[in-house]
Amino acid sequence: MNELIVGIDLGTTNSAIGVVDSGFPMLLADKDGKRIIPSAVWYGADGAVEVGHKALRRRHLNGLSVITSVKRYMGRDLSEDDRAMLLQRSPEEISAEILRELKRIAESRMGQEIHKAVITVPAYFHDGQRLATKRAGELAGLEVVRILNEPTAAALAYGLDKLADSSRVAVYDFGGGTFDLSILEMHEGVFQVLATHGDTLLGGDDLDRAIADNIWRIAGIDAQSISRENQLRWLEEAERVKCVMSDREREIFSLPFYDGQSSFSYTLERNELEQWMQPLIARTIRCCRMALNDANAALSSINALVLVGGSSRIPAVRRAVEDCFGRAPDLSQHPDEAIALGATIHAGVLSGAMKKMVLLDVTPLSLGIETLGGLMNVIIPRNTTIPCKAGEMFTNAVTDQRAMLVRVLQGEREMARDNWELGSVEVAFEPAPKGHARIGVQFRLDENGILEVLARDVKTGQDRILEIKHAAVDVSDEAIEKMVGESVEHAFSDMAERVWTEARLKAEELIPAVDAALAIGVDLCNDEELAMIQLAQQQVKDALSSQQANVLKAAVQKLDQATEFLAARIVEKAMNDAITRQLEG
Ligand code: AMP
Repeated sequence: MNELIVGIDLGTTNSAIGVVDSGFPMLLADKDGKRIIPSAVWYGADGAVEVGHKALRRRHLNGLSVITSVKRYMGRDLSEDDRAMLLQRSPEEISAEILRELKRIAESRMGQEIHKAVITVPAYFHDGQRLATKRAGELAGLEVVRILNEPTAAALAYGLDKLADSSRVAVYDFGGGTFDLSILEMHEGVFQVLATHGDTLLGGDDLDRAIADNIWRIAGIDAQSISRENQLRWLEEAERVKCVMSDREREIFSLPFYDGQSSFSYTLERNELEQWMQPLIARTIRCCRMALNDANAALSSINALVLVGGSSRIPAVRRAVEDCFGRAPDLSQHPDEAIALGATIHAGVLSGAMKKMVLLDVTPLSLGIETLGGLMNVIIPRNTTIPCKAGEMFTNAVTDQRAMLVRVLQGEREMARDNWELGSVEVAFEPAPKGHARIGVQFRLDENGILEVLARDVKTGQDRILEIKHAAVDVSDEAIEKMVGESVEHAFSDMAERVWTEARLKAEELIPAVDAALAIGVDLCNDEELAMIQLAQQQVKDALSSQQANVLKAAVQKLDQATEFLAARIVEKAMNDAITRQLEG
């Protein structure tokens, strides 16, 4: 079994962990069924620690002992204020608590210990910040096998790694605390970051703040005059209303007894909310323009646009991005799960667990070789699950033949000429009477679609090996459709040609064989029997020129039957002769 490697999105606001199980990447949920864990850590007395939702819930009672957004401090020089805010702990130590919690969730879900992880970081993180992330992993008991750029992870989650070389992807990531836009370019199957532009102090939290500021203005409240705990309640309500209004036109902002006596309620309309958020959204769009400029990328050169981060769920954000890029974004993934999912896919590829998905692949078209008469001899039929192995034995068609050309074909047609030739290999063998040399041909198709053709002269054990890369799976859907369509269209004529060819080959083999039998066994049959054989033989010859498969098949069968007794008598005579010789000897 492969060792599990988990994928982790260690985010500013939220974090998530995933693993590839049975070939499929999936995020793991905690005991409450939640896959997204707030990146919050609470430190209590006597070393008590709580992480995630539990830590956030403590914010109202003892807000100062709950640390959020620790990612902002990773790999940075800290001021005295920062240290106080972090309760004199290092950012790595605090991040390690979040990672430990994620590790626990994964271990309890998977029922085994986890030791290795891929962790994502923003593309703009410098070496010091990456190193700090790695150290946090180690403190949590995880070997960080790869630090992966967040936009790359997002692109993986959207399956964009299948894009052609030089394709470009724009990843717009608007989360809780930060914003960035990255332009990636695909190079030999690997994404390279061409440019990234962002604002580490611009996120959903700032939208909440803008909403709260406006609400305080309407309520006539001076934010400076209320306690931090009280401010938090307004901000939390602002966030709730903001999230709800991504799906609704209006929502009531409601805060009962916010100061112990007074209550506040206000019906917020989508238009008004959007006005409040507009200046911040405009700042993200300016970053997009700068990134495009830095990458020297024309809008028309962008092949895909994906949105990640919880704040990209906001309809006004989606509209603004769409306007800027002049194209609709791909919204097929959860914006707040895409990065963790991409990290998981990358982890799965590294551990080998992702290959299992390829195992479920099937051969899109049949694979075989050309045999005598120009026929397609299928060795691995279409739709066979790969990896797979199959083989067949062939003999020489002509006496003293010295070599056989193995032509490897792909396709669904009965005649070799109508299929595609993938390659060929010549197998030499020792001269032998017709039908006596034996050549084994084996096809082996591995999980990467590489076809290995092995041809062996059974007598000498000599092998010839031909390797055909990607042949089996690298066929475009259109080509497959065309090939299958043609095989259906020509099914009758193809089959007729195959039947005719098989019958012809049989006839051509039988006629000289009957001549040979008569040469040694003419004394073993009476005139009537001899006439019958000669007639049947003539009928086969006539049928050969008739071009009618059924007639030929019937004639061949009749000749076979007519000579059955002769073959038996020849064998019997040979045995008697041998016994007589023995007795005489
Ligand atoms: P992330 O850092 O990607 O986890 O994003 C978290 C941010 O996304 C927070 O500021 C959330 O308030 C915000 N968010 C999550 N869901 C929504 C939503 N439906 N509409 C608007 N903002 C959202």
